[in-house]
Parts: sequence; C-alpha cells; structure tokens
Amino acid sequence: KNNQLKYKRVLLKISGEALMGSRDFGLDPETVSRVAQEVASVREMGVEVCLVIGGGNIFRGVSGAAQGMERTTADYMGMLATIMNALAMQSALEDIGVYTRVLSAIPMQSVCEPYIRRRAVRHMEKGRVVIFAAGTGNPFFTTDTAAALRASEMDCDAMLKATKVDGVYDSDPVKNPDAKRFDQLTYKHVLTEDLRVMDASAITLSRENNIPILVFSIHEQGAFAQVMKGEGKFTIVT
Ligand code: UDP
Repeated sequence: KNNQLKYKRVLLKISGEALMGSRDFGLDPETVSRVAQEVASVREMGVEVCLVIGGGNIFRGVSGAAQGMERTTADYMGMLATIMNALAMQSALEDIGVYTRVLSAIPMQSVCEPYIRRRAVRHMEKGRVVIFAAGTGNPFFTTDTAAALRASEMDCDAMLKATKVDGVYDSDPVKNPDAKRFDQLTYKHVLTEDLRVMDASAITLSRENNIPILVFSIHEQGAFAQVMKGEGKFTIVT
C-alpha cells in the first residue's frame, strides 16, 4: 500500500501554542490528544511520521532575555520546555497505541534517548513515531529551524507546518478580512516578501534540501491525513 503514497516519510512541526487549546499558557490535554489522533491516523496510512514540537506555550528565549535573563540561558530553558511538550505528546500517542520514541538534542539520559541520527532513522523504519525534542540543541535557533534540520537529516519527503489557519496569507487573516491566501508559493517568494511561514533559516534549509513545506490548519479535524492525500486546504511552498 506504501507505493500509492505521495509522501512516504514526513516531519510534522507543531508549535507549543498549537497545544494550548484555548488556554493562555501550558498544555491543554484535550488538544494534545486530538493532535495525537491526527498523527495516529496518518501513521495508519503507512506514512512514516516524525515530529518536532515547539515550546512557546511554556517558555521562549527572547521573552526571557527581554526580562533581563542571559539569552543563551533563556534559550536553554526554552529547549527544556520542548522536552516537556514532547513527553506529553508521547504519552498521548501511547494512550492510543502508537509506538513512539523521544530523542532529545540535549541528552537527558533517564528521561529519553539522546538524538543519534542513525538511531532515529531506524526507529522510523520500524514504524515508530519519532519525537525530536530540545530543538537543535543550540541557543539562537528555533524549533522551526530544528524541524527543517531534522527533516533534512531524516530525508523526509515533506515538512508539514501545523498552524491555526488553513495556509499562508499575505497578512494575518484573523486581523485582516481581506488577507489573500496562497495555494502555492516558492521559497524565494516567502523570503523576499517575508511571509509568515517559518523563520528564514528554516526556509533556506528546506530550499537547499528540496523539502516542500505544507502549511495547514491543525484545528480542522482529519486535516493532517487529508493533506497527506493531497486533499483539503493547505499552502505548498516549493
Ligand atoms: N530554542 C533554542 N534552540 C532551538 C530551538 C528552540 O534555543 O534549536 C529555544 C528558544 O528559546 C525558543 C524556545 O526554545 O524560543 C521554544 O521554541 P520555539 O519558540 O521555536 O517554539 P514554538 O514557537 O514552536 O512553540
């Protein structure tokens, strides 16, 4: 059945905020379960799935720095936040019978596995959902860049960016009712127009490694599976 798949191996980037639900901080267990269900249904299609989860729902380095904290220290706190989110997602996935492994860019031996590329590839070949935690392991980066990096390392056929809206717009569609939506974009257009897809380093890395970015709404039920079939609403950046 795998031969009919458009994308055999994908990376899904979920921001920390996407796991907040209607709260203004932390994790909403119902939302985490719902996203886990989305992942499970794509896994059931036979697609190999890995995840990068952000930490913005708990801590962001720039916010810490704005309050006077040393930037690199604040960034490490942000990376630790992504590990918490990864563990929550692992728990939600295991609850519904999906095999997972959390691999952290910052080794945390008694909590999860360290990130070792070959090991990650092996997990994916065995059908486990690999959750990449702690971003790139370096300060001054974001989990968007971590997503583009891991998607490149895992040789993913596509990177999916789960957002609150059904694609990329030329301005915030929540604030501007006349915002124009794109079905298709080039990396170059995204960079020159500074469109809000992912940060520039993530776009550049994806472009260099020819990884299409598919932006879709995680709030639509079944959207992840639909996008994998080339259906539903999404913006593709190539
Ligand atoms: N972070 C970092 N290096 C990385 C990834 C993340 O220093 O490679 C830190 C950074 O401080 C960031 C925080 O972790 O603000 C949370 O990640 P991000 O803001 O990307 O989360 P998201 O917006 O996706 O929820």
